[in-house]
Amino acid sequence: MPLTKSWVETANDPTGVFPLNNLPYGVFNDGRGARAGVAIGDKVLDLGALEGLGMVPSVGFRNGALNDFMAEGAGAWTRVRNTLTGLLSEGADAQHQLGSFLHSQAVVTMQLPFTVAEYTDFYAGKHHATNVGTMFRGAENALPPNWLHIPIGYNGRASSVVVSGRDVRRPWGQLKGPDDPAPRFAPSARFDIELEMGAVVGQPSSGPISVDQADANIFGYVLLNDWSARDIQAWEYQPLGPFQAKATSTSISPWVVTKAALEPFRTSTPAREIELLPHLRDTGPMLYAIGLEVTLTPDGGAEEIISRTNYREMYYSAAQQPAHHTTSGCPMRVGDLLGSGTISGPERDNRGSLLELSWGGKEPFKLSNGETRSFIEDGDRLTLRGAANGDGYQIGFGECTARVLPALKNPYGVS
Ligand code: CA
Repeated sequence: MPLTKSWVETANDPTGVFPLNNLPYGVFNDGRGARAGVAIGDKVLDLGALEGLGMVPSVGFRNGALNDFMAEGAGAWTRVRNTLTGLLSEGADAQHQLGSFLHSQAVVTMQLPFTVAEYTDFYAGKHHATNVGTMFRGAENALPPNWLHIPIGYNGRASSVVVSGRDVRRPWGQLKGPDDPAPRFAPSARFDIELEMGAVVGQPSSGPISVDQADANIFGYVLLNDWSARDIQAWEYQPLGPFQAKATSTSISPWVVTKAALEPFRTSTPAREIELLPHLRDTGPMLYAIGLEVTLTPDGGAEEIISRTNYREMYYSAAQQPAHHTTSGCPMRVGDLLGSGTISGPERDNRGSLLELSWGGKEPFKLSNGETRSFIEDGDRLTLRGAANGDGYQIGFGECTARVLPALKNPYGVS
């Protein structure tokens, strides 16, 4: 599918990530209240204003979150996308009416695009699970026995999800290394990122759903950084899994890229090493080819790429996750966020966490300013970017970025 040209000139720039083919939704505020917008080139089009004028369907764009729009269902998702494509296409009459509803993305503040109903994080990348398992349990026992049969996950906290741009503070926690005689309470010294994609559930379900129904219920995707305190995790994680190690923050990109925009980039999961039970089997290509990168910007230093990988490296698709998640009868809600699990690739420079890049801190990696890193240092900015590459255009997510602030001097405020 070629580029669909827009009268918004910057949308036709092949180095940009918001062409007319994309149309990702977000929530912005220019000082006059939060409302939904759609990214086009370097601009955001005010959907709240257009809804007020009856130029787009009335689906709750003035509500400050995308949940009501998502709840309207796939028919409304298509109608709005078609309307916007018409309004923004090269030569459209609407060009003369819409100028005052286009704002520069550089001057608006992006907010969380939807109210996160619930947040579940999976562990569905085989390269990551193998790397981490090898570090902790040895190569022979790297993958847990269930791993090739179900996409394993844990229930996270919706309250911890923040939008890109919000600083993240290094957490305190209870730590105990294997050689420590007793646990102590201290700031995490092994604070880390996890490069992930998040699937956004746009339709509710109340019982077990098939892989196809799960795919149909997904509204779109965001970039997701699952901030992780490895030293807190090492002490707390058995037997019930991660808890405080993952509860500091989860950052997501401000733009939700729709399934419709990603449709040309569908690709299959890798060959199954063990056939899945029928209720989890792939029914078609349900992953996407999306190039991903992680950059690190040291305090006062230059940004540099520390990892490059691709979403197609996942072993399980996002659709297989709710298919498993709902087998128990677990209801899914509009606004549920499903983290993919860390997306690492086969090579060293494809690793999606510092834990893997530094091999548990044993092999610190060098930055171009001469510093080395095993884990995040105070003042570091970590940024995720992602885009699918079309024929002369890109379908991108923008950035998912945050700077890490030093731990509080005293977390309880008592001197
Ligand atoms: Ca994770």
